Amino acid sequence: MRITFWGAARKVTGSMFLLELESDFRILIDCGMDMDSEGEDMPVYPGSVFPFEASMINVVILTHAHLDHTGKVPNLIREGFEGPIFCTAPTTDLAEILLYDAASINKSKLNKYHKRKGQSPGYKPNFNLEEIFQEKHVKQALSQVKSLAVNKTYKLTKSINLKMISTGHLLGAANVFLEIEENNEKKSILFSGDIGRQNYPLLKDPETPPQADYVICETTYGGKYHQSLVDTEEELLSFIQKSCIEKPGKLIIPAFSIGRTQAILYTINKLFREKRLPDIPVYADSPMAMKSNRVYEAFSNHFNEESTTFKKKYGELFYGNNFDYIEQLGESKKISTKQGPCIIVSSSGMLEGGRIQHHIRMNLQNPDTTILMVGFTPEGTFGHKLRNAPGVIEMGKKNVPINATILNTDAFSGHGDHDDLLRFIHSQKKENTKGVFLVHGEETSMDNFKEALIEDGYQNVVTPSKGESFTL
Ligand SMILES: [Zn+2]
Repeated sequence: MRITFWGAARKVTGSMFLLELESDFRILIDCGMDMDSEGEDMPVYPGSVFPFEASMINVVILTHAHLDHTGKVPNLIREGFEGPIFCTAPTTDLAEILLYDAASINKSKLNKYHKRKGQSPGYKPNFNLEEIFQEKHVKQALSQVKSLAVNKTYKLTKSINLKMISTGHLLGAANVFLEIEENNEKKSILFSGDIGRQNYPLLKDPETPPQADYVICETTYGGKYHQSLVDTEEELLSFIQKSCIEKPGKLIIPAFSIGRTQAILYTINKLFREKRLPDIPVYADSPMAMKSNRVYEAFSNHFNEESTTFKKKYGELFYGNNFDYIEQLGESKKISTKQGPCIIVSSSGMLEGGRIQHHIRMNLQNPDTTILMVGFTPEGTFGHKLRNAPGVIEMGKKNVPINATILNTDAFSGHGDHDDLLRFIHSQKKENTKGVFLVHGEETSMDNFKEALIEDGYQNVVTPSKGESFTL
């Protein structure tokens, strides 16, 4: 069989790996949106956004719901993929929220495009029109999904077994373990997906995967380390005390609605319930966060012991007497200007779009406000600019002084660090591992991690380029 790395090759986004068996059976593992494809000359199949013919794929397997792993599935459907899509049950529900949201962003992009095009026929959009999928493609994709349980072996065909192994990171996230028989020989391949952390709020720790012949491993935090999550809770407590009690003022936390927001709301709720904080109002201001809360609550069997005990004791994970979930946009704007100490958790985490924008605009010049950046903010995003702004920032073509305090932490990251990645690899005996392919990382992280694996004695550690194929 042959594996081709069509995404997340020497970079972080756009996970997509194609396995082609000698029988011509084709399995696509992840089908992610590339958030950073600028300047890349991707070979594509004629009339397609993929480098292969979508209708020739037999099966898609998704490791988890994040768009850099699922965001091109509707395109695959649009281009004629008719086969089943396998993923865990929580991944199905979270991907539904994310893909419909992406379709609605596409819709407004398309409306703007048609308006501009009407005004000046030569207008060229700054996005690829062929990648703009619609709600109907998401609906069709969801109808092809077959939800799987974790830790159970499924027979995809007479000669292919599939098992999903829970890996923390995000509700439903899993390693994909495939056993394939070809020419009377059995070979196994393990795809890490995104590896989670030990003691992450709500989620169980990553489980130990079975031994495989070949491993495809992410390297986002290769060579980098997080502070412990016990310290994270203490750090958040001290941020809240400083911003809302000592000052006292507003604490604004921009957070991605799915995963990160649940981890933060749960941790804040815990601090209140354990009487470590007085009852400061908390505003959860993102309709998508409410939908994600419901998915999290529906799959409480995926929770760790601590949050299960918490739920039994207090009844609620994400709700308390001082918690307010904001549905209407008007209400959201009102809390921006409200006086007095409070905590606002809103999206988007990168400060690109979403309700967080008016909270920042209304409070950036207020010295009583603190903005706590908890997510990854790629270069070029407003979040990145704010993190690095020298006391003044350009907003709507005006230079706005920053009087609010800006704090940073990556402690709520759902990605495992160097030690978590090593823990994953060490589940594989080096003498039984025929090859390790490193993906989903910046070059320096990948090189750092590769060096560590070679030092540990792993053979054939490769960092494939986009489009590179290997015979397994
Ligand atoms: Zn992810």
